[in-house]
Amino acid sequence: MKRSFIIIISLIMFFDATAAFGWGSKGHDIVAAIAEQHLTPKAKRKIDKFLDGKSIIYFSSWMDNIQNSPYWENGYNLTKTWHYANVDKGLTYDTMQKNPAGDVVTGLEKLTDEMMNNYDNLTDSMRVDYLKMIVHMVGDLHCPMHAGRLSDRGGNGTKVMWFRNETNLHSVWDSRMIESARTWSYSEWCEQLDRKDRKYRKSISDGSYEEWFSDTVEEAARIYEYVEASEEIVPVLSYQFVYDFSPLLEEQLLNAGYRLAHVLNTIFR
Ligand SMILES: [Zn+2]
Repeated sequence: MKRSFIIIISLIMFFDATAAFGWGSKGHDIVAAIAEQHLTPKAKRKIDKFLDGKSIIYFSSWMDNIQNSPYWENGYNLTKTWHYANVDKGLTYDTMQKNPAGDVVTGLEKLTDEMMNNYDNLTDSMRVDYLKMIVHMVGDLHCPMHAGRLSDRGGNGTKVMWFRNETNLHSVWDSRMIESARTWSYSEWCEQLDRKDRKYRKSISDGSYEEWFSDTVEEAARIYEYVEASEEIVPVLSYQFVYDFSPLLEEQLLNAGYRLAHVLNTIFR
């Protein structure tokens, strides 16, 4: 009896954790690596100081990992819902009911505002935490299933077959797509994707967190459409899905990287 209780509890914790895992560590590393290439010298210097010589890549998944640390209850648990926003079909971020505990958009707005307008009143450790969170959350903001529907908990409730393995749509976008699309390391992804000119980088970095998130909601809708068009009871996603959605994957990672650089350069200007 006791044993099965422990198993149930750990399963709940497991599903809860996967629900918030965004791109998985490789996706977050790719986003941070692209951003790092486009930091101004001033931003680089300040970030270097805050992170004690470590890079933003080193900390790109810190916000996921803190959930399993002893510090989680020291206020970090208030950021539990800040990795995503679930938008049901037919709604937009603007028209949906907002989570009172916050979401990825309001979380980013709050942290950025603190860093821009309340910087002098923050302690160094708060600045470091906020920086690490922003690095992670700009990645999550671009992960399609972090803009998935509330009705299926961001794809967690939509069962699919990934090649021969049963999983769900959220998990596909956590890491399976990245791992299946290429066998590159995060730095090879960065090297291959980060080839756009200054004009593109500038145009893509215009806009607000809400606008960037709304783009992700639209991309998520295309993914749902594809899955819903399947005639199988449990849709099978395999080579064709990887081929069809790799451009979306690459664009989201790249844009997240450029936009993260823009956010950090603005904060540390
Ligand atoms: Zn996350």
